[in-house]
Amino acid sequence: MPQLKAPFYGHTRQYESIQKELDDAIRDVILSGQYVTGPTLKRFEGELARYCGQKHAVGVNSGTDALWLTFMALGLKEGDEVITTANTFFATAEAIWIAGGKVVLVDCDPATRNLDPAKIEAAITSRTVGIVPVHLYGLCADMKAISDIARKRKLWVVEDNAQAIDGHGPGWKQGQLSDAVCTSFIIQKNLGTLGDGGAVVTDRDDIDAVVRKLRNHGSTVRSVHSFGFNSRLDDIHAGILSVKLKHITRWTDRRREIAARYTRGLQGTSFRLPVEPAGYRHVFHLYVIEHPRRDALEKFLLEAGVDVKLHYPIAIHKQEGYPWGKPADLRPDVPNCERNAAQCVSLPMFPELTDGEVDYTIEQCLEWDRQPRR
Ligand SMILES: *Cc1c(COP(=O)(O)O)cnc(C)c1O
Repeated sequence: MPQLKAPFYGHTRQYESIQKELDDAIRDVILSGQYVTGPTLKRFEGELARYCGQKHAVGVNSGTDALWLTFMALGLKEGDEVITTANTFFATAEAIWIAGGKVVLVDCDPATRNLDPAKIEAAITSRTVGIVPVHLYGLCADMKAISDIARKRKLWVVEDNAQAIDGHGPGWKQGQLSDAVCTSFIIQKNLGTLGDGGAVVTDRDDIDAVVRKLRNHGSTVRSVHSFGFNSRLDDIHAGILSVKLKHITRWTDRRREIAARYTRGLQGTSFRLPVEPAGYRHVFHLYVIEHPRRDALEKFLLEAGVDVKLHYPIAIHKQEGYPWGKPADLRPDVPNCERNAAQCVSLPMFPELTDGEVDYTIEQCLEWDRQPRR
């Protein structure tokens, strides 16, 4: 193993930077004696809704659950078609399947790597019920264009916001142009707890009410149940997230500073760099560069002690392994997504990364770029 010069994650660094606040918050929950749908969760839901500028926030077990519980609340039925992008984490498609939907994959825009609005209309059929844009790597999808299509065709829109909390588009925030926003709080996300978590954020009273019931065995009143599940955000995680929410803007600003440093340092090389269209706030969940010889680049950087990762080397429709086999619906025409899967590599990116580690990573990328091609 080469010596690690630039790590990919900084979970313990972040903990150390706000240790007292976190320890206090965790202890407060323990001493409250209320750990499930208690006052800490209620308080955090209020804070999150206010922060997002939406009426409601419902804490659930994970980002994946946030998605499929929302699809259920929207009345998704067996065989309904839902449009999303092949350029995403597996859970986006998985959540559509769990809720009984049929996944329809549409290609992404080559520059933003997000769902290409120009290709959506051709994928709409009489069975289509909704669209799930993913704000990939921290850059919001073109919600304006997507919501225009949805309104015209009477479809719902649910934003997969697992990667872009604290981001926005030109003149709009997440939630303003959709029915609901689903967020993940797994540790490696920009707002991450020490474990798993998620939330549905929405202005719609009906979605809030149904998700709130579904996450708690169909119950809002003790001993009275309708159909539901167990998918709650634990109070201890709500307490942790409540502390971290106060730091999110500062952390995003630091991510953006690191991204600007990478972009300056890698200008004029053979790498394709991330873009930030005018008016968008990219929150750089990941800083992803592309190169046709990605596998060789990845190997070189790992050997140089730069901990890079691939997001996501196997596109959704190339995955195996759901119990009922490979769905026939997944034979999409998505060349841009396939290029991403083959060419993307993610550089170290978290707020506590030092400038020295960023510069070392840049130097190693430049060194590889200078090497003659075999
Ligand atoms: C992380 C992620 C999810 C799933 O969130 P979990 O909390 O891990 O269930 C869904 N979609 C995207 C795009 C993600 O990055």
